[in-house]
Amino acid sequence: MSSSVSAVQRGRAAGRKTAPGPILLMGAPGVGKGTQAKELVKLWGIPQISTGDLLRANVAQDTSLGRVAKEIMGRGELVPDSLVDEMVAVRLQQPDAAKGYILDGFPRTLGQAGWLDGRLAAQPKPLPVVAVSIQVDYNQLLRRITGRRNCPVCQTIYNIYVNPPRRDGFCDVEGAALVQRADDTEQVFKERMRAYAALTAPVVEHYRALGRFAEVNGDRPIAEVAAGIVAAVERLRETA
Ligand code: AMP
Repeated sequence: MSSSVSAVQRGRAAGRKTAPGPILLMGAPGVGKGTQAKELVKLWGIPQISTGDLLRANVAQDTSLGRVAKEIMGRGELVPDSLVDEMVAVRLQQPDAAKGYILDGFPRTLGQAGWLDGRLAAQPKPLPVVAVSIQVDYNQLLRRITGRRNCPVCQTIYNIYVNPPRRDGFCDVEGAALVQRADDTEQVFKERMRAYAALTAPVVEHYRALGRFAEVNGDRPIAEVAAGIVAAVERLRETA
């Protein structure tokens, strides 16, 4: 199974006249937002901004934000909008985000979506966010989440059921012992799914109503899902 975008897609991306702008990857926990964002980074050369990763970095560094976020994340609930918005605002000021970025896991509430839309509209040449939601069914997600293991050094993501490392428990690239995220248990997964249905599903409807939304089937090989996302973004950019 190929895990990267094709040379043809890379060539097409390089020939694009316009920057891809802000792209929002949506979907329930475990649909593969992080994996797909990394594919799109390779293709478009714009950064992935994952609020989950940024929050985990704050937890690891024991910042004041990290201390607040740790318990909330451990329960599978959402960190308050004001804290996440501020964290994203700081990240968006970095120069690598000037031509576009892939938001992975943000906005997750209507409040965050309103904040982002307002911020983008206030820019001199506003390029609105286009949203792509990756769809995978519930049982498949549960297997992906509980089987997920990460390399703490290079961040490669494995799954003990469908994409195991060559040596059980160790990264193929770094040889480091793989770790499981504290919130990748079945119990916390259920709470994360509840939060998704209650708070994030309305964000999908928000972007759908604006005509800047597409759905992609995520139950396919990584490269095929990536190609589906690229096609959806190009279609949406023609009209958005
Ligand atoms: P993720 O890595 O995207 O699955 O996020 C892991 C956890 O970080 C979530 O379950 C939330 O507790 C928290 N989180 C990530 N992104 C957000 C966000 N946009 N708003 C609030 N909480 C978030």
